[in-house]
Amino acid sequence: MEILGTRLISPCLLRAASTGAFQLKEPLNYRHGGRVQPAGGDGDSRVEKVHEPATGRVICDFVCSNQKEVDLAVQSAKEAYRYWSKLSGLERGRILLEAARLIREQREDIAIVESINTGKPITESRVDVDTAWQAVEYYAGIAGTLAGQHIQLSGGSFAYTRREPLGVCVGIGAWNYPFQIACWKSAPALACGNAMIFKPSPLTPLTAVMLAEIYTQAGAPKGLFNVLQGAVETGNFLCKHRGVAKVSFTGSVPTGIKIMETAAKNVKHVTLELGGKSPLVIFSDCDLENAVRGAMLANFLSQGEVCSNGTRVFVQKDVMSKFVEKVVAKTKAIKVGDPLFEDTQMGGLISRPHLDRVLSYVKQAEEQGATVLCGGDRFVPNDPKLKDGYFMKPCILGNCNDEMTCVKEEIFGPVMSVLAFDTEEEAIERANNTDLGLAAGVFTRDLTRAHRMAAALEAGTCFINNYNVSPIEIPFGGYKMSGFGKENGTVTIEYYTQLKSVYVEMGDPECSF
Ligand code: NAD
Repeated sequence: MEILGTRLISPCLLRAASTGAFQLKEPLNYRHGGRVQPAGGDGDSRVEKVHEPATGRVICDFVCSNQKEVDLAVQSAKEAYRYWSKLSGLERGRILLEAARLIREQREDIAIVESINTGKPITESRVDVDTAWQAVEYYAGIAGTLAGQHIQLSGGSFAYTRREPLGVCVGIGAWNYPFQIACWKSAPALACGNAMIFKPSPLTPLTAVMLAEIYTQAGAPKGLFNVLQGAVETGNFLCKHRGVAKVSFTGSVPTGIKIMETAAKNVKHVTLELGGKSPLVIFSDCDLENAVRGAMLANFLSQGEVCSNGTRVFVQKDVMSKFVEKVVAKTKAIKVGDPLFEDTQMGGLISRPHLDRVLSYVKQAEEQGATVLCGGDRFVPNDPKLKDGYFMKPCILGNCNDEMTCVKEEIFGPVMSVLAFDTEEEAIERANNTDLGLAAGVFTRDLTRAHRMAAALEAGTCFINNYNVSPIEIPFGGYKMSGFGKENGTVTIEYYTQLKSVYVEMGDPECSF
């Protein structure tokens, strides 16, 4: 197979991938500066097949990494860490800046692979790649500013603090934003002087390898960013490994709980970015056109497979009928189809079992008394190539109440539940009536109400008069069972460093012995 430069696969081959004309044969583990076949030995050696959501075809497969492969990756990362952690922040930043430039240069290739592998529209994948290089560039800038504090004490003695890296960090990713997640974790980790081993979701193994190649090309030492492929067992080996100092996880709540339990056994640092069932509250005094836009952004990006989605849309009763009319019309107009077409607005869901799960949520909602206002069934595009793709028509559920399963559980698909409310107090109480707390949104023209709501909503991020915007400068992370720790913003350096206090005695030690 042809390899262009250090790229994983060339654009023309990617097109071939999208038509099922070839299968990717290159190994997808990236360890110590190159792509390697995972080491043999005991442990998980299952082969995972990777499907293309738009066509249902297998685009590649890989052998899951076993304990031996994990050991080798940790050893390689430790070697890199010894060198990398001794560099100045400015030196590390320079390499990260070059990596950000290379991502920008390879934006289209990465976006195409991402769309083929995740099923999301190419226009969205490009935005994902942009938010990814922005993270690398942002933390490149911060690397040179990392510093401790000087503390004056009595008698001329003093103390200072050193902000030190943690060591080898593990990143474990979900399948909905594979490249973005890999960058949001690795950029702050590397900027702070750590090494990282990243395990992508077995459904989306490709673009993390492209990132590894970019870091190497930018001048990162071998082993600084390794990628191991695998599923549950590989992830578990990584979380248990004594050579690993931290696990940063993005994924579902049940997996997050298991990872926290495993990491607790040797007191590893943990960041958990978990699921959500976020509320979007629309007051009748809002700009309704903007609120409709907000509801669309809150539900239908990436086929609705977005952790922060505002899937519980609370609408004040007096604007309900107007809101429903507008949002249904817009939803019916969404163009579902080939993710590589420029005018496609929604692609295929990640897998056949996931599509079936989402469709069954719609069926169950109907059985529980909700009204399907549009969509909610499987969609087969006219193009014969796409006949086995995992497409569905985006769905709006009306007449919902707080007890319905579709309102309580994260569906992770293009399904919006609309709920009516009367008063601000009622909206707050119902919005907060969940164990999850990733995000929330409010649409209103009333300035004081907007800030009252932002303060009252139990969520890690609150959007006022917009939804699902995630500039790299803003910390992102959950409340309640949506997790803890933050990604993005300057605060994230707290989660990838530890603070050492150094006491300096300028006199004689006082001693009672
Ligand atoms: P998942 O929990 O099934 O898997 C996530 C990752 O964990 C995968 O790489 C998987 O292989 C790995 N894994 C599974 N079991 C493991 C174990 N025991 N030990 C270590 N690793 C293990 O989640 P998913 O289906 O890939 O992603 C969807 C979920 O992710 C949704 O709930 C969504 O809300 C959430 N998500 C959250 C954020 C956020 O930032 N809060 C972002 C994206 C997705």
